[in-house]
Amino acid sequence: MSGGDNLDFEIRPNPAPVGDAERAALLANPGFGRIFTDHMVTVRYADGKGWYEPRVEARAPIPMDPAAAVLHYAQEIFEGLKAYTLPDSGVAMFRPDANAARFAESAQRMAMPQLPVETFLRSLHEIIKIDRQWIPQSDEGSLYLRPFAYASEVFLGVRPAMEYLYLVIASPVGPYFSGGVKPVSVWVTPDYTRAAPGGTGAAKCGGNYAAGLSAQAEAIENGCDQVVYLDAVERKYIDELGGMNVFFVLDDGTLVTPPLTGTILPGITRDSVIKLAGRAGHKVEERPVSLEEWRTGAASGKIREAFACGTAAVITPIGTVKSADSQFTVADGGTGEVTAALRKQLVDIQRGRAEDPFGWVHRVI
Ligand SMILES: *Cc1c(COP(=O)(O)O)cnc(C)c1O
Repeated sequence: MSGGDNLDFEIRPNPAPVGDAERAALLANPGFGRIFTDHMVTVRYADGKGWYEPRVEARAPIPMDPAAAVLHYAQEIFEGLKAYTLPDSGVAMFRPDANAARFAESAQRMAMPQLPVETFLRSLHEIIKIDRQWIPQSDEGSLYLRPFAYASEVFLGVRPAMEYLYLVIASPVGPYFSGGVKPVSVWVTPDYTRAAPGGTGAAKCGGNYAAGLSAQAEAIENGCDQVVYLDAVERKYIDELGGMNVFFVLDDGTLVTPPLTGTILPGITRDSVIKLAGRAGHKVEERPVSLEEWRTGAASGKIREAFACGTAAVITPIGTVKSADSQFTVADGGTGEVTAALRKQLVDIQRGRAEDPFGWVHRVI
């Protein structure tokens, strides 16, 4: 029974959900990650017992012992994906099976037990069904789903914990860019790296984000929106942003993106862009790109566009690039044609407005 395949969730509806009027007011301007739905999913794990007590219950604080292992050694992983309203009023998620697979890989890297893919998918279905009234109806809004798991065992010894808690919370979000898509400026940090070979760069774990906060603060101090990291070995090649992957568009229409060598998070948006671009006839290369190649390519016109991509913002053009010893813009610093077209294609597929050639849209309701 360990790890049970298709656990049956016990549903305990929130006895005091937010009222219709208050919810409508919250949904009018949800922002990002500020407001939450009425419910959460919890599933427990213990060594020898496997995953147990799968529940949908009222969202509430989680009691935690001060010696819970996660508070000391950061054994924690998470995922992020969205549920959207379809034109026929149904509800769908985008490639949740890919999030399930990545969650299992992150778990493996962090010496945590793997939640069965079916339980992961089922947990998302359950929270969407019970909290569907929280899905924004606006054109660009969605319900952001945050599955995560952490070491809950009460123990200060350093070894993989023997008890864990898996949860899903959900947060209605508005359009990422309230005034329409606009290019971001990025700071190439000379001081910090995000991930080294053999490290945790390919795992979606909270610790990677904690380690990136100083670098992000440095970017803001230097007047930029986001930090971009160079590789930790040669300090030459572009890895990724703190939470988004990077693409370059060459003058012949070729797309180039850094390869997955273990230091980069394997983004599902990244993978989707590679497949969509290939289908649209672009050549796609996964190879290292140095800051020097970016700088000289932007100057000569060989690199026409650059963009970052991830679930939250989908695709974001990169306008200005600033480093310790240089500053340049990509083309005119605006949104490139290929970037805009890929963004539209991807968003249209996600929202059920365009044909779904790869079977990515996973209908829930
Ligand atoms: C989540 C994440 C991404 C983007 O992944 P998506 O699956 O496209 O959302 C990129 N980089 C990092 C570091 C991430 O944590």
